[in-house]
Amino acid sequence: MSDSQLSHYECGHCAATAGMDELIATCPACGGPLLARYDLQGARADRIPAPGRGIWRWSGLLPVPEAGRIELGTGDTPLLPTTIGAWLGTGATWIKDEAANPTASFKARGMAVAIGRARALGARSLVVPSAGNAACAAAAYAAAAGLPLTVFMPADVPDSFRIEARAYAARVELVDGLIDECGRRAQAMAERDGSFNLATFREPGRVEGKKTMGFEIAEQMGWRLPEVLIYPTGGGTGIVALWKAFEELEALGLIGPERPRLVMVQAETCAPLVRAFEAGNTQAEPWENGATVADGLRVPKSFGDRLVLGALRRSRGRAVTVSDGQMLEYARIMASKTGIFPCPEGAACLAAQVKLAREGWIGPEDRVVLFNTGSALKYLHLWPNSTHPD
Ligand SMILES: *Cc1c(COP(=O)(O)O)cnc(C)c1O
Ligand SMILES: [Zn+2]
Repeated sequence: MSDSQLSHYECGHCAATAGMDELIATCPACGGPLLARYDLQGARADRIPAPGRGIWRWSGLLPVPEAGRIELGTGDTPLLPTTIGAWLGTGATWIKDEAANPTASFKARGMAVAIGRARALGARSLVVPSAGNAACAAAAYAAAAGLPLTVFMPADVPDSFRIEARAYAARVELVDGLIDECGRRAQAMAERDGSFNLATFREPGRVEGKKTMGFEIAEQMGWRLPEVLIYPTGGGTGIVALWKAFEELEALGLIGPERPRLVMVQAETCAPLVRAFEAGNTQAEPWENGATVADGLRVPKSFGDRLVLGALRRSRGRAVTVSDGQMLEYARIMASKTGIFPCPEGAACLAAQVKLAREGWIGPEDRVVLFNTGSALKYLHLWPNSTHPD
């Protein structure tokens, strides 16, 4: 495994820079989200990706020194060919199955990097607001890192997430309110006792971890990116991360300037980024009383909205909404046609592909990759009870 080629951090809003030796979280000048920047010349000389398995094959392009690399088997999830393209009349369609990660979701990638970095730079305790999978992933990596973690979760999150997070010995605080209220509580705790806040876009590690999905897809497709990527979007960390991954791969000479069109999918009942995209805005207003069965999409306000909307526009992408009913319907269709049992967020990608294929926006020449971002097994409460067959 190679050394990290991290050189500094740069603010995604005001372009101010910050050094890499301290456990810095947000921009010291304006408070905006920080992006990691690398010595790509140095990285070119290294062997990237290194041999082996998992996200640390890309450690030259991750902000984690060797001492922080927690090994739970993160990344190198399968990119599965399907027959979806044939029945929709689009090009070939693959599913990047992120349920194969530790804690059964792609949140593992971001937390592996964020917590690895925090540990290496001296964090003594951690805090995170989460509506589901992020809590489980943070709790698992915190346990592996030997760091205490507090999770602020809305009181109505499904039992599966709360039970799993507690099993890893996280302190789970149930909050009467939405994820934004949990975010305020986490921030207050960080200010009060110095716990490192892992909230998305409030520290630079989670984007870097999710970036490895883009690296893997490029590699798995023989360095020929698909024409369309469909991504279920809550705060949009993954949209920013995928775009950044491709920029870095191009700088390394591994891919050319071609880029996929990115499709952002949100729930009809909580779609602040889609609304902003459609209105031509560069920032998103908070969505009032956002609710959806897809816990990963229940994000009424993204701290990274400007970066997400910018990446989507540069990719000449689209933003679409799907209803909770469609997510459940397409979960069943995806499971029965592919053998992959998706979380509702993953099913939302298929619903969006159907919509855009009918419109002709995705055509027969367009190779498509969908993300199944987590396992359906944490959402069994959404399915008819098996003891009462329907
Ligand atoms: C968090 C989450 C998402 C949304 O990811 P972002 O990159 O934060 O937008 C999608 N699906 C699942 C299963 C999630 O847990
Ligand atoms: Zn700034």
